[in-house]
Amino acid sequence: MAPKIITIHAGLFFDPKERKFKKHVSVAVDTETGTVADVFERDESSDWHLRESDIDMRSKVVMPGFVDAHTHVFLHSYEERPAQEQMRDESIVERTVRATNHVRRALLSGYTTYRDLGSEGMGSFDANLRDAINRGLIPGPRLFVATHALTSTGAYEMRTENAANGVSGPTISDPCDGPTGVRRAVRRRVADGADVIKFYADYRRKIMRFPPVQTHPYIGGMPFPPADANPQVVMFTQEEMDAIVEEARLASLPVACHAGTARGAIMAAKAGVTSIEHGSEGGEELFKELRRRDTILVPTLAAIEAIRKDQVEAAQRQAKRAFDIGVRLAAGGDTGTFNHGQGVREMELMIDAGIPVEDVLEACMIGGWEACGGDACGFRFGWLAKGNRADIIALDADPREDKQALRKVGFVMKDGKVWKHAGIPVGVIDPIMQEAGQEDPTWQLI
Ligand SMILES: [Zn+2]
Repeated sequence: MAPKIITIHAGLFFDPKERKFKKHVSVAVDTETGTVADVFERDESSDWHLRESDIDMRSKVVMPGFVDAHTHVFLHSYEERPAQEQMRDESIVERTVRATNHVRRALLSGYTTYRDLGSEGMGSFDANLRDAINRGLIPGPRLFVATHALTSTGAYEMRTENAANGVSGPTISDPCDGPTGVRRAVRRRVADGADVIKFYADYRRKIMRFPPVQTHPYIGGMPFPPADANPQVVMFTQEEMDAIVEEARLASLPVACHAGTARGAIMAAKAGVTSIEHGSEGGEELFKELRRRDTILVPTLAAIEAIRKDQVEAAQRQAKRAFDIGVRLAAGGDTGTFNHGQGVREMELMIDAGIPVEDVLEACMIGGWEACGGDACGFRFGWLAKGNRADIIALDADPREDKQALRKVGFVMKDGKVWKHAGIPVGVIDPIMQEAGQEDPTWQLI
C-alpha cells in the first residue's frame, strides 16, 4: 500500500510567489487527491529523522513543475521536416503516435502542464489526447488545448500552386468572418472541448502574391522578389476581435492571440485577450498597452531561434524591454517548431536576454497558470501551497550558478504521482503480468 502522505525534503526550494530560493523547506503531498497537503519549514536541529516514506531531496533544488505556455503537441522539429510536409504527408496515426512520444518526453523534462495552441491540421484531436492523459492511458503534462485556431477566410491555410487541380491539404484553422461568424466559431471550439481560444491577429496571408518554394523557412520562389515578399498583415477588424473575446468570456475561457505585428497585437490587447503570442515587432507603444491591461506576453524566443536564427537577438532585446517596462511574461517556446523535451530552451533564452532567473521561473510557473486562465481553468498549479496540484520537480543543480541546470531535471511528480526519480523514468513502462514466480513479465509502455 502506498502511503497517503509523502513528504519531500528540499535542499533548496524555489518559491515563485516570493521569487526566492529558500532552505529547509519540506512539501507534504496527499497521494490520494494528488494535491499539496502542506509546505513547511523543517526543523532539523534535534531528533529529526527521515521517515521511510519520505523523499530525500536535500541535495536537490525543488520547485513547481514547469508550464509551457505555447506548444503544439502534433508538431516536431521543422529542421526534421517543414511544417507543411508534416501536415500534408504524415498520417493521423503517425502524428498521434509522435504526439504520444512528445508528451512523455515533455513530462520527463519537467513540464507538468502544456498550453497547446492549435492542433495544426489535426482537427480537435488535441482534446482527445488531453483526455487520454487525464484518464491515465499515457504519461504527459496536463494539457490545455485550443483545438483549431480561429482565422479570417483564407488567412491561414495550406497553400499550393496546384490548387486548381483539386490538390488541397488538411484544414489547419477554423475560418470565420464578421462579429456573428467569429462568435459562431468560438462556440464551435467550446463544443469541441477547447480549454483556450486561439486566434490570429495577423499572418503572412498574401503568400500567393509571390509564392515561395516552401512556406517554411520562407525560401523565395523567384529571383527578384520585392523587399518584403510576404509581410504579416492584420486579418480581423477590431469589432471581430472584440466579439471573439466577448464570446470566449461567456464560456470563461482564456484567449491567446498570435500577433507578429504591433498593430495586430495592440488591437488584440484592446479587445482584452489573455495573452499575446510572439509579439515580435514589439515597441514601446505595444508594451505600454500590454502593461496597462495586464496582458500576458509569450515571446516564443525558442521558436524564433529555431526558425529565424538571425532574428533571435532582436527578439531577446524586445523581451527584455517588455520585462523592464513591467509587462507580464509567460514562458512558451512554441514548442513543436523544435523538439518536445527541449522546452527549457525558452527559459534559457529569457535568462540570456538579461531577465533574472527568479523572474523567468516565476513567468514559467505562475505566468503559465495565468495564461491557462488562472482559477477559471479549474486547477491551481505553478506554485506549491496547500490544496494546489502536487506538480513538483527537482533539479540536480542550482540554476543561478549552472546555466545547464534547467536541463538537469532528476525528479518529476505530477498530481502526486512520481514519473521520474534519480534521473530515471518511473512507471513509464509497467509490467502487465506480475504473477508470483514469473521471471519474464510482459512490459507495456503507458
Ligand atoms: Zn504556435
